[in-house]
This record gives sequence, C-alpha cells and structure tokens, in this order.
Amino acid sequence: MAAAKALRRTPADVILIDRTNHHLFQPLLYQVATSELAPGQIGSPIRGILRNQKNTTVVLGEVTAVNKEQHYVVASSADRAEVPIRYDYLILATGQRHSYFGHDEFERFAPGLKNLADAVAIRNRILQAFEQAEAEEDTSRHRDLLTFVLVGAGPTGVEMAGALAVMVQTTLRSDFRRINPQSARIVLVDMANRVLGAFAEDISAAAKRRLERLGVEVRLGHGVDKIDEDGVIVAGERIASKTVIWTAGVAPSPAGKWLAVETDRAGRVKVQPNLAVPGHPEIFVVGDTASLQQDGKPLPGVAQVAMQQGRYAGKLIHGRIAGKPAPRPFRYFDKGNMAVVGKGFAVLQSGPIRTSGLVAWLAWAAIHLEFLAQSSLRVSVFVQWVWTYLTGQRGSRLIVNHHASANDRAPQSVGSGTRTPGHAVAGQRTESFAVNGKSLK
Ligand SMILES: Cc1cc2nc3c(=O)[nH]c(=O)nc-3n(C[C@H](O)[C@H](O)[C@H](O)COP(=O)(O)OP(=O)(O)OC[C@H]3O[C@@H](n4cnc5c(N)ncnc54)[C@H](O)[C@@H]3O)c2cc1C
Repeated sequence: MAAAKALRRTPADVILIDRTNHHLFQPLLYQVATSELAPGQIGSPIRGILRNQKNTTVVLGEVTAVNKEQHYVVASSADRAEVPIRYDYLILATGQRHSYFGHDEFERFAPGLKNLADAVAIRNRILQAFEQAEAEEDTSRHRDLLTFVLVGAGPTGVEMAGALAVMVQTTLRSDFRRINPQSARIVLVDMANRVLGAFAEDISAAAKRRLERLGVEVRLGHGVDKIDEDGVIVAGERIASKTVIWTAGVAPSPAGKWLAVETDRAGRVKVQPNLAVPGHPEIFVVGDTASLQQDGKPLPGVAQVAMQQGRYAGKLIHGRIAGKPAPRPFRYFDKGNMAVVGKGFAVLQSGPIRTSGLVAWLAWAAIHLEFLAQSSLRVSVFVQWVWTYLTGQRGSRLIVNHHASANDRAPQSVGSGTRTPGHAVAGQRTESFAVNGKSLK
C-alpha cells in the first residue's frame, strides 16, 4: 500500500494484487480477537483507499509464482487460474505466515493470529469456552474450559493476555449465572526468560509485573513440548485447556522460493541496500518477507520497516522512470516500540526514552489511531475505545460461524511453484486480467 501510494504520480500502470480485498492493520488484530473492535474497524477495502489514484488498478488474486526472466507473475482468482501478469518493475510485499517451528500438528489445536479470519476464529473460541462452561453441569470440567493458554510472550501474546484478563474482569463479570468468569486462568508461556524480548530489560520487567497484577500466569524459560486437544505440556507439566492460542513464531511468505534467490535462515529474501534482488534491479522485496541488515543487525519484522521500505521502493521506481539519479541506500528510521498491557497501561521504548504506564498508553492510542487507513475508522475506533474504557463494554462480542455453502465457496488455491502460463485448472478460466481496457497478459 505504501509503495502503491508512492507511485501515485508516476506515468505508469500500477497494478496492486492482493489475495484479500482489504488492507489490514495487524497491530490491532488482538482487539478483534478479544471482542473490543469489530473486523471492519481495522480493515479497509483496498479499492476504497485507492479510489482516487487513477493510475492504479486493484486485482483480487493470489500470486503463486514469479517468472523473473520473462517478467511476469502468475496469479489465480475465484474463476481464473494461473493467469500471467506482466511487469516492468515488481515489488513483492507478501508478508509472513505462522510458523510452528516444525510442529505443524500444533496448528489444529492452537490457531495463530495473522488475519481477520484468524481473529474472528479466536474470538469465537474464547466466547464459546465461556458459553460451554456456563452450560456444563459438571463443575470439574469448568477448569479446562476456563483456562486460556497463549504460547509466545512477544507483543501479540502480551497484548492478548492483557486484553483477555481485562475482558474477564470487566466485560464478562456479571453476564453469567453458573460460572464466575473472573476465575478464568490465563497462562502466557514462552521459552525465553522474559516477556517482550525485543524491549529493554526494565521494560520487559514492567510488562511482566503488570500482567501478573492482572492475574496472568507468566511461565518463562520453557517452551511447549506438546499441544493437543486436552491442552499443553510445558516442562513436563500438563496444563489442561480447551483454548490454546499460538502467538509465537512467524515464517515469511514463499517469495524467496518463487524467485529462487538467496534467503536468510528464516527464509526471507536477502535484498540489496536499495531493496532490489541481486541481479534483478527491476525486482524489489520489502517488509516482512525481506531480509536486510542495518548497522550489523537484521531489521525487525514490524509495520514501520514495511511502510518505510514500501515508500522507498515506490519512490525509487518513480525516480528511475523520471530519469532521476539513484537514491541513497535504504535506511530505517526507528521511531520506537510499544505494547499495551491491559487497560490504560502500555510500555514504550523510543531511543533514550523508556517509559510505562498511562502516558505510554495515551501515546500508543494516538499513534495507532493515526496509522489506521481511513478517517472513518479513526473516529469509530476512538469512540469504541472511549466507550470500552468508561463502561468496560466491548463492541463485538459475537460468536459468528460463517458456513459457506458449497456453491459459495471459492476454489482452492492452486498451490505454488513455477508454472507454465495458461495452464488451466478444470472449470477455471485463464483469460488475462484487464487494466484500463488493456490485457495484462
Ligand atoms: C497480530 C500482529 C500484531 C502486530 N503488531 C505490531 C505492532 O504493534 N507494531 C508493528 O510495528 N508491527 C506489528 N506487527 C507486524 C506488522 O503487522 C508487520 O510487520 C507488517 O504488517 C508487515 O507488512 P508487510 O506489508 O510486509 O506484510 P503484511 O502486512 O502481512 O501484508 C502482506 C499482504 O500480502 C498479501 N499476500 C500475501 N501473500 C499473497 C499472495 N501469494 N498473493 C497475493 N497477496 C498476498 C496479504 O493478503 C497481505 O495483504 C504485528 C503483526 C501481527 C500479525
């Protein structure tokens, strides 16, 4: 999105391909998972955001391969399979997905939080657990229904644990008759020795203290050995739980495989200082799926890096087309890190500034509002936050199961790997996508 916006005045056809129709503000996903915000408050249709950008066409499609020699990507959509889309310049910004560190069997029992569907699925699970406990006459079963385990004490795990603790203590407190929601056990597990490992030690310690004051059990120094339908095993001890949430590892998108270029150990594409792929000055990889060192350290997978890199790549291409000299290498400007821990409390680390508490939380709220994609979302989220802060009530406490009928269901992804353009999947079309009346084939 940042790259597309940087190209808004470029005399070129800009094509933005995404497999979803919306731009998502991931830092607030945990608030959807814990019922504070509704999905529509943190996502906006890409078409809507770019509606005034006349040189840009939005294509809803999943990219599955790149032919870097012949300059096309391969994309599939609901009724078109493996359509080649030509490019002169390519920016890949396909982000990350969950990684279960080689234990893919955990995924069934411990969903991760990466997109809106994940957030709604987790919200369903959490709310369902309280409903099941309320209906369960056998009180011995309440304990595992009301135990929530979060695996991974990075920003997502810490923010989720804090939000869940506040939810049981305020929003749900007086809604049930047979169970006491405040008896819910929230366990945050991490193999590291402190929470928020990317922050300074005193900030980590402040976050941990705050979590414990909210009633969260913080279990550090041991990863989970096993996750199954009965809960988790940590350091030989079983913690019985019907709701386990994966807030740990991430792995990059398969962009490195599509390009068949060098990647780092995590699988991110190693890019040059101008974010181009070695040997291919027309291909750029940015954001979570790129690997770049700055001052001897790899850049973190955070939104600021992704946005600054997207803007840089867009401007670089604009300059090249306009015949301007090449810009200086990309340099990340780190504005700092923040994480919220429950109501009215955040930790903030920005250069020499390190603080925690209400002031940090107000700064967090202002910055996150500013980064939402549209003004209407800023207003709606602000009103919801004020309402929740004052009343404890949450905006979106719905259990929603979307049962798509067989006819409604979109065709499955056709997989990845280099493919021959025009190769059809039965029942799908392979005509090209058209932009401004011109075929993209
Ligand atoms: C729960 C959570 C909380 C976070 N909190 C913070 C935070 O507080 N602060 C912070 O700085 N960062 C945070 N991050 C990280 C931040 O969101 C990412 O670093 C940032 O979004 C990376 O941007 P990106 O453009 O590289 O990838 P993404 O934002 O993931 O965007 C990738 C896009 O590519 C699309 N896509 C992927 N594969 C394909 C394909 N094959 N074909 C077509 N489209 C495709 C996706 O649909 C998506 O729209 C958080 C991340 C998560 C998951």
